[in-house]
Amino acid sequence: MLSSKASCLCGGVKITALEINPKFTVCHCDTCRAWGGAPFFAVQCGTKVNIEGSEKVKMYKSSTWASRGFCSDCGTHLFFKMNKSGEYNMPAGLFPSLKEIKMDMQYFSDQRPDYYCFSNETKEMTRAEIMEYFAKYV
Ligand SMILES: [Zn+2]
Ligand SMILES: [Zn+2]
Repeated sequence: MLSSKASCLCGGVKITALEINPKFTVCHCDTCRAWGGAPFFAVQCGTKVNIEGSEKVKMYKSSTWASRGFCSDCGTHLFFKMNKSGEYNMPAGLFPSLKEIKMDMQYFSDQRPDYYCFSNETKEMTRAEIMEYFAKYV
């Protein structure tokens, strides 16, 4: 497990994640790509996450099982949070000093458009496989 600090572009929100899984997931789903304009490089941060400036964080409930948080001043995307477990997934790019991470999994591999493809060797899950696996979180 790693720990690292993050900040939004305006500095109004500062985040310290204390238990970061060094193996991260890329999500190609339509919602993530609409949200960020590109696939979501999601680092699993568990629940040990301290947020300074949380009054600036606006939450959007993007599905029945999770919400997405962003800075209401500068718009920086901060996290994808599971409603039930309270676990955070945060964008890899938010952590400037987090270098020792590895792309391990690609979600919604069947929703990836043909205009990009990563050469990293990873595991993959299709939408159907994910829906079955995550049924317990809904
Ligand atoms: Zn901000
Ligand atoms: Zn997604």
